[in-house]
Amino acid sequence: MRELITLACQECKRRNYTSTKDKKKHPERIELKKYCRFDRKHTLHKETK
Ligand SMILES: [Zn+2]
Repeated sequence: MRELITLACQECKRRNYTSTKDKKKHPERIELKKYCRFDRKHTLHKETK
C-alpha cells in the first residue's frame, strides 16, 4: 500500500514536492535532500501531513 505524502522545505517551509511511500517500510516521517526552487539550492525536505 503506497500512500501519497507531501514534502516541505525546511528552510522556507514551502511544500515543493509530492511523493509516495510505503508506510510499512517507512513508518517514520521521511527526510530527503531536494532542490528548492525558491531557495535555489538543495535543502532538507520533510514529510508533512
Ligand atoms: Zn525552500
